[in-house]
Amino acid sequence: MEFVSTRNHKLKTTAAKAIIEGLAQDGGLYVPTSLPLLAINELVGLDYHDLALAILSSLFDDFNKEELSVALDKAYGLFDTREVVPLSTIGDRYLLELYHGPTSAFKDVALTLLPHLLKMAYKQSGCDKKIYILTATSGDTGKAALEGFKDVENTYITVFYPHEGVSEIQYRQMATTAGNNTQVIAARGNFDDCQRLVKKAYNHKTFRKYDKVQLSSANSINIGRLFPQIVYYFSSYLQLVKDGRIKMGTKVSFVVPTGNFGNILAGYLAKKMGLPVLHLICASNDNDVLTEFLDTGVYNACRPFYLTTSPSMDILISSNLERLLYFASGDSEMVKGLMDDLSQNGRYQISEELLKKIQSEFRGYCIKQDEVARLIKEAFENDGRLIDPHTAVAYGAAKKYEEEVPVIILSTASPYKFANNVYACIKERAADEYEAMELLAKTSGMPIPKNLSSLKEMPIRHQEVIDIEDGLKTIERKLQELSHD
Ligand SMILES: *Cc1c(COP(=O)(O)O)cnc(C)c1O
Repeated sequence: MEFVSTRNHKLKTTAAKAIIEGLAQDGGLYVPTSLPLLAINELVGLDYHDLALAILSSLFDDFNKEELSVALDKAYGLFDTREVVPLSTIGDRYLLELYHGPTSAFKDVALTLLPHLLKMAYKQSGCDKKIYILTATSGDTGKAALEGFKDVENTYITVFYPHEGVSEIQYRQMATTAGNNTQVIAARGNFDDCQRLVKKAYNHKTFRKYDKVQLSSANSINIGRLFPQIVYYFSSYLQLVKDGRIKMGTKVSFVVPTGNFGNILAGYLAKKMGLPVLHLICASNDNDVLTEFLDTGVYNACRPFYLTTSPSMDILISSNLERLLYFASGDSEMVKGLMDDLSQNGRYQISEELLKKIQSEFRGYCIKQDEVARLIKEAFENDGRLIDPHTAVAYGAAKKYEEEVPVIILSTASPYKFANNVYACIKERAADEYEAMELLAKTSGMPIPKNLSSLKEMPIRHQEVIDIEDGLKTIERKLQELSHD
């Protein structure tokens, strides 16, 4: 399979190179030139490993299938349930539990696998450089990437997160990370600043002299992050078929709590690969730039930025939307123009025709903070479900969506990751996060994930805080170090 840049369809590369590079050299994102159409009938009854193997080997068709199978075993063996991503119910809708991995957020589904994919890509392309992973995080990617890459040979990872812009637990998860190849930095700025910094570093001309080191990305701009997320859209659908809840071919809609537009884009790719999907519902918090875009066709990042109880969605520049623009239009020149508008003027507008096309497949709703609090309480009291604030945003969007089709809500984080905020919604505020975890467990009977309950005892290992303007210098220092040893 071939990949091209969203900003230049003549810039072709292989899957291996796309995974290693992360971002295309012209600043665009890599997209496949075609997608396989799957015979979905033949996938019913496969367990998660076999389903992932079938789907991912059709996408990474030049990778060794046995190696991929071993990698999937290693990655998904780290989850706390054999099903990997169990499907349950919330009222008369379905809840896809994506938070059973080692860091209790959905990012684990891709980031437990990415280091293995990268290793395979390396072998495939004969690359012998050291890999330096740069990651911007709004809270969850950071820890999942650190866990995935810590102590991986020939690899170093730096994570930038917004100083005071992540939850207490997210902070502790990252700051306590062990491993001799990890660096965690709080940058004074928001997620968009961190993401911009990382993107700038990839295309920084003076960094090219560090030619023994290859920069790469663990963000959803990397196709190695994106493709593994396609699998659970299929797995939840096939589960419903297997349980006799729907007939094969029945269309369903997915509700996705959205930040960088990576997760929902994976759903769009699943649809293009043959999954019967009516709508992909983009749920946003108070940062409603995507809701407005899906309504009007105007993407306007010049707006107030809110810190909310769903920090992983506190984003104004949703990178993967660029991929949707490319797929929906097939016009890389137009995409490049829009992205130039965005970086110069902070906004762009798409044509009426393109908007109509996108609206035929997507819906967008925004759910404000006070509503989120009410929804967490409502889900607990009416449906007996404990959900985290990100999932609550999606739950609220699902309630606004009125089509009469089966609805699957993607639950992206364990409620224990945001324990005190969740407990405050259903009862009162506890003294701290750990007490809130205990109280939540007592109230709900839902077990506390071990990776979270053990955080309290773990020493803080990373405390560096920088101004965002000093980010490039910090990266260059590490590049120098890695070039010498
Ligand atoms: C990352 C994240 C999201 C947003 O996913 P995107 O792929 O960035 O749209 C939503 N919820 C949680 C808990 C997350 O960690």
